[in-house]
Amino acid sequence: MTRFVYQCSNCGKRYQRDEVRYLCPGCSHDYRPGIPLIGVLSVQFDYAAIRKKFSKAKPDWNLFSAVEKQFFPPIPVGNTPFFQSAALGNELGFANVWIKNDGLNPSASLKDRASFLVVAEANRLKENTIVAASTGNAASALAAVCAAAGKRALIFIPQNAPKPKLVQMILYGATVVPVRGTYDDAFRLSLEYTAKRGGLNRNTAYHPLTIEGKKTVGLEIWQQNHWRVPDAILVPVGDGVIISGVHKAFYDLKAAGLISRRPRLVCVQAEKSNAIHRYIESGIYQSAANPSTVADSISVSVPSNAHMARKAVLESGGFSITVSDAEILHAQGILASKTGVFAEPACSAVVAALKKLRGSKRLDRKAQIVLLITGHGLKDVDAAMQGIRLPKAIEPTLEHLKSIHAL
Ligand SMILES: [Zn+2]
Repeated sequence: MTRFVYQCSNCGKRYQRDEVRYLCPGCSHDYRPGIPLIGVLSVQFDYAAIRKKFSKAKPDWNLFSAVEKQFFPPIPVGNTPFFQSAALGNELGFANVWIKNDGLNPSASLKDRASFLVVAEANRLKENTIVAASTGNAASALAAVCAAAGKRALIFIPQNAPKPKLVQMILYGATVVPVRGTYDDAFRLSLEYTAKRGGLNRNTAYHPLTIEGKKTVGLEIWQQNHWRVPDAILVPVGDGVIISGVHKAFYDLKAAGLISRRPRLVCVQAEKSNAIHRYIESGIYQSAANPSTVADSISVSVPSNAHMARKAVLESGGFSITVSDAEILHAQGILASKTGVFAEPACSAVVAALKKLRGSKRLDRKAQIVLLITGHGLKDVDAAMQGIRLPKAIEPTLEHLKSIHAL
């Protein structure tokens, strides 16, 4: 760990580590459930100290951690594969396409990285209950890491949450509380619970270490790319925390003098869940009225980290793009059949976006492009089924095989 302070992303005020826990106390007065979070905190390290100690020959990634190693939960997270796919590049019309496959984390999503660090913080603070409102990957990730760390995960979910999403978290031993109402109601109840009854709240961006945990994917990309900064990273965006985390990785590396430029970040959203996209394009924030997309992990009405995500994209010189459900399902098949990576619809959206950008001047076809795959396709088999047709059974004779066209 390196010494750090928290800095408010809204007013810039700085706080000592144990002076604050969630949002900036000064700015969060203006926050109410139903709007993006105000006063999200950002970790600002002693970058001169990192610069002095960091060595590429023997990289110590704990220098970039906001929690001491001794508190880490006993479950390996991260170090996921990073590789080039010429076949996918050829298919999409780009010469240098790479995949970071974070679906291969323990609970099968990038969100394990955030849960890992928040549970480490819970160990430091001697908190035994960690609370979150979620319907999907964040809750599964929290439940998995809590299981390994011997902690209690308390999860509030809207009552209409899809049942398959619950299986993982219940098997991991989480306490799952369905709430009559929407995700916003569950979110509000989780905040009230931790305010009155205690425990540590892991709600995404609300706890600043969720962003720090997610940034480790960016640090890994830099290392796995032989200490080079890719030209662009395409990120699936729902509430805007993952893209803020990727941005933070390269912000930290630049602040520590280890890189001279940052990658362009491309925000990819579903057409019907596009609040951050519109915010980036117009500068005016408006929630998505009825977000409905096959990419449920990025389906969100009020993106909690909209302000920071917009800033991240603009500062990186990147841009935003949306894709339709049909494009997402088609891209899911392309990715699987060209690379062997089965990704959930949310991250297949980045493949759809790159396909759409073919021939556009927004991305150079020779640029090094990274597609961030944030969750495994087995998380949502029902969605994938919409894009394929299952073959019918035949009688087990060679004669009947003749009826199959491909044979
Ligand atoms: Zn503030």
